[in-house]
Amino acid sequence: MAKQFKRETLCVQAGWSPKKGEPRVLPIYQSTTFKYETSEQMARLFDLEENGYFYTRLQNPTNDAVAAKIAALEGGVAAILTSSGQAANFYAIFNICEAGDHFICSSAIYGGTFNLFGVTMKKLGIEVTFISPDASEEEISVAFRPNTKALFGETISNPSLDILDIEKFARIAHNHGVPLIVDNTFPTPINCRPFEWGADIVVHSTTKYMDGHATSVGGCIVDSGKFDWEAHAEKFPGLCTPDESYHGLTYTKAFGNMAYIQKATAQLMRDLGSIQSPQNAFLLNIGLETLHLRMPQHCRNAQKIAEYLQTNNKVAWVNYCGLPDNKYYELAQKYMPNGSCGVISFGLKGGREVAIKFMDSLKLAAIVTHVADARTCVLHPASHTHRQLSDEQLLEAGVRPDLIRFSVGIENVDDILEDIEQALKA
Ligand SMILES: *Cc1c(COP(=O)(O)O)cnc(C)c1O
Repeated sequence: MAKQFKRETLCVQAGWSPKKGEPRVLPIYQSTTFKYETSEQMARLFDLEENGYFYTRLQNPTNDAVAAKIAALEGGVAAILTSSGQAANFYAIFNICEAGDHFICSSAIYGGTFNLFGVTMKKLGIEVTFISPDASEEEISVAFRPNTKALFGETISNPSLDILDIEKFARIAHNHGVPLIVDNTFPTPINCRPFEWGADIVVHSTTKYMDGHATSVGGCIVDSGKFDWEAHAEKFPGLCTPDESYHGLTYTKAFGNMAYIQKATAQLMRDLGSIQSPQNAFLLNIGLETLHLRMPQHCRNAQKIAEYLQTNNKVAWVNYCGLPDNKYYELAQKYMPNGSCGVISFGLKGGREVAIKFMDSLKLAAIVTHVADARTCVLHPASHTHRQLSDEQLLEAGVRPDLIRFSVGIENVDDILEDIEQALKA
């Protein structure tokens, strides 16, 4: 679908344009495989000489329609859906890094990603250096090595809610001839489009706001198509030299600015198979149809609740970039002038014990291992999602031990406020 449409229209209509007599609603292509007339036709698909579907471990039309919608929303040239956000982050790095390589990552990131990058990828021979997102350009530059292949950060970090200075990070990455990869899960392309600020690759956990209803785990990788792999060919042999597992095809030569996503599909999906199920892609698409309506309501509600918490004397601190005295207020205004997301974090006077008592007293807000969906929910990272991290790692990831992550839903804000009030009294 043409890019001149506004985001609201893309949310509703992009990705699936039925022809005469075809279903109005994106169908679920619930099929592992696809039929051809001749053996020759099938052979051409396997040689990547022709576009087409052959096996759902690599590609499926339902998935591709939804990926195309997300690509349009982000302003990218191509996208791929993955089975989870974790898979998206793994593929995004592994597509350009192999054993012996290195990348640099903001330390303010999701706990699962921190573990994936710092522990599991290390076992594959890929090393990461974590740097503070607030470090100076000089400090970050020092972390680069000849084998560094990417710079990575989260637009709004989960759960510490730090804001990434995308322009600064893009400049640093490009000065060193590597792409900037940004996890844009929390703001979604409704509130921020990292490509407009120089990012090269965007990743998402679609499990969060994009699905929005907590029905399906999923992920997505979007390519801006702007990074010039060939200009740094010696760093990216996987993209710029022949792939022996594909009859000597070179992705940049065969696919131009679609090389990165084509390689992720043809190589990583083929070999690792973390595809999103078409059923989940269908549900994700229904979620996306209202993303532009839900995000502003999440932000309005979160703003009111953050302001309320700030004035309550039982609250020790509140972290929300929509509050003018927040450390990241200016950066948030620059990158997300229409609102950031619905996630707030705060601490109660009395610390850990009081936090747990407060959470147990909530009635409307549910304790769940989830964030960023239509229903208000709450989590204590130090005892839930980030249990595996030491206190030192917790602080490095910007997670205080008393931090309560409050994910504000799209209910009536007065009901959420009342729930918080009664739980604070209890
Ligand atoms: C949840 C999350 C992930 C991981 O996504 P899953 O879909 O749970 O695998 C990655 N990044 C961020 C910012 C997240 O919030």
